[in-house]
Amino acid sequence: MKRTVSFSKRSKNIFFHILTHCNLKCGHCYINKAQHGSSTLPLATVSAWLQAFTGSGADSNLVLLGGEPTLHPDLPRIVKTARSKGCTSITIDTNGYLFNDILEKVEPEDVDFFSFSLDGPTPDENDPIRGRGSFDTCVAGIKAAKQKGFNTSLIYTVSSGNLQGLQGMVPLLKALAVDRFFIQVIGLRGNASAFKHDAGKSRVQQVAGRDWLDVIPAVAQKIADFGITVTYPKVYLGPEEAFECAGVVAENYFIFPNGRVYRCPLCEDFPVHGLVFENDILKKMPPINETDLFQLDIPEGCVMNKMIQPDNIAYHGDGRPKFKIACCLLKEEISEIM
Ligand code: SF4
Ligand code: SF4
Repeated sequence: MKRTVSFSKRSKNIFFHILTHCNLKCGHCYINKAQHGSSTLPLATVSAWLQAFTGSGADSNLVLLGGEPTLHPDLPRIVKTARSKGCTSITIDTNGYLFNDILEKVEPEDVDFFSFSLDGPTPDENDPIRGRGSFDTCVAGIKAAKQKGFNTSLIYTVSSGNLQGLQGMVPLLKALAVDRFFIQVIGLRGNASAFKHDAGKSRVQQVAGRDWLDVIPAVAQKIADFGITVTYPKVYLGPEEAFECAGVVAENYFIFPNGRVYRCPLCEDFPVHGLVFENDILKKMPPINETDLFQLDIPEGCVMNKMIQPDNIAYHGDGRPKFKIACCLLKEEISEIM
């Protein structure tokens, strides 16, 4: 069953980068310490900042991110604190190294998902992107998490360099029996804007147009046929589909250790955040910021896409765009046919 996951104002999605430090140096890493900070947030700060987003009665879905969040020595206490503040779901995104014996210090009742990242179906395809040994470590981490009874998901960040490898993920996902699979588009931010992973010969590109439409839904369906729920960005809107900017119609917050809070992930490389923590109080930023950009109505759809990664837009001869580009947060979900 395929569906577009609609935006909702009834729940908040909180993407909380509790540190930016990481043991890996992935070629497409979007972390930009100049824009995001380099500190490891103390538990008390994490707790105070979470307070600003919880307790309103709306569901709060928390995703703990880094850098590598399992490098944070207080991650188990952060999880407990988030639960005590009423977070409805808690996910830990990890590169699979699972530092500080994290699987021994949290319980499946506390953590809804451990979400792992792989960018190829074999070490030969994954490790040039994510680092030597990272494939085997991540696969071992997934198996260990499953053994302990945790729900697991896997994220695959697609670029022109590893699009073909996506097909090879089908048997691996079946063997690992992860619960959910997320396909992500490489964002042209951070390292990715200059990323090379084919021996430095060519710049890696976003997958766009026919390549995206021909490959992604078909692979997603194949994987869903094994009973794994697959989610991928919609990217292109059909002629009948209305454009909506999540910055206007949904509640997504991307929090960084320097106190910046963005509503749009495409803005994260720029000092245009709509909100900021000052002395642990969440404040609105003065204009002009991302909130002003969300109001702009353009025929291409997403304003930020047009500004920072316009290569995925195609035009008719008369200058009209062939498709609107959807909000990067709009997802398609395919689950097993009931
Ligand atoms: S594991 Fe994540 S945070 Fe670490 S380098 Fe890779 S993409 Fe960046
Ligand atoms: S990706 Fe585009 S449409 Fe989505 S929140 Fe950002 S500016 Fe709005």
